[in-house]
Amino acid sequence: MRTSRRVFFRGLAGVGVGTGLVNLCTPGWLAAQAETKQGRELRIADVELFPYVLESKQVTRIALGQVAAAGVLVRLRTGDGLVGWGEASPYAPITGETQASCLVMGKRLAEVVRARNVFDLARIVADMDAVTAGNPSIKAALEMGLWDLCGKLTHQPICHLLGRYRESFETDRTVYLDEPPAMAEKAKEVVREGYKVVKVKVGQSPELDMARVHAIRAAVGAKVRIRIDANQGWTRDEALKVLRSLERLDIELCEQPVASSDWEGLRQVSQHSPIPIMADESVHSPSDAIECVRRAAAGLINIKLMKSGGILQSMRIAAIAEAAHLQCMLGSMVETRLALTAAAHVVSAQRCVVYADLDTFTEHKIDPVVGGMQVKDGLVTLPGTPGLGLDVDPDFLKTLKPA
Ligand code: MG
Repeated sequence: MRTSRRVFFRGLAGVGVGTGLVNLCTPGWLAAQAETKQGRELRIADVELFPYVLESKQVTRIALGQVAAAGVLVRLRTGDGLVGWGEASPYAPITGETQASCLVMGKRLAEVVRARNVFDLARIVADMDAVTAGNPSIKAALEMGLWDLCGKLTHQPICHLLGRYRESFETDRTVYLDEPPAMAEKAKEVVREGYKVVKVKVGQSPELDMARVHAIRAAVGAKVRIRIDANQGWTRDEALKVLRSLERLDIELCEQPVASSDWEGLRQVSQHSPIPIMADESVHSPSDAIECVRRAAAGLINIKLMKSGGILQSMRIAAIAEAAHLQCMLGSMVETRLALTAAAHVVSAQRCVVYADLDTFTEHKIDPVVGGMQVKDGLVTLPGTPGLGLDVDPDFLKTLKPA
């Protein structure tokens, strides 16, 4: 006897419900599995904020000023004690946030997160946006903690939940502003450490910037990849003058040559530059990414968790970029390996993210993270452990006071 299609599929659905095959891997299914099979508590019981300051090995200066590591660690705890970690690394010249503002807004946003089911992550993100505009770094920290918990509750690394595209990738190492010979020396040191890509900070004055990049290319040889970042430091004319003078040095890209608000300048420089242009400070959000695409302002976008407000928003920017056939970088502010590991999970999951600048931890005197992403000879790999796959060093945590 022939079974009708409808009966056949109804039968399959019945099997599916019984075995968990229906809605496989949707958040709802994962939540149900976590709740019923492990009897775990899914609601956030506690949110703690820990301000930290890390000493740098050297003064790190970019065109926007000095960079210092003063951030906030976030510890979320479910009702039965499972811990999710997050980190805010504010940088006022770019997002308008400071450690102090992160603590004030963090306390307000903690009220949005408290008592919520961790798998309602997208709704919690929307609710945080409804409470306050901006404040992307502290929002990213709280959302990071939720992702860490989603991973731990489902026993999967975050990149598995996002959908893994690649298992490892190269990060560059940044050479900060200094005199050309000192920067060339630093670039050689970075290459000796095994890094294959050097990111050079420029944007101070055209002549000095040209001398910097020429000195570094001469020092590291032809095989090392070099990218440059002007951090908005040039006018349109200065940008084109410098970029044209570097044409024969095989520079793979230049980040944010002109002011973040100068969309037309960015477009003009992109159109006439011999070196590909990447929008960084111009693109914080998915709407900015649409603007970048609509104006054909840049062929590349630098995504940062601290600018976008977290993993979800960063994935949305990447989706817009990919749909528009643009490629992306995942970048960083001044964060430790905690937030860098969250960024690495996004790199792992996004095909269009073909560049990574996740090196800020190398400038800190101590590394307060146990586990997490590992970097060897510039190659980043993620642990296969659930969530972010890391912990905050208990000895470091003892030195911090919750706010
Ligand atoms: Mg940049």
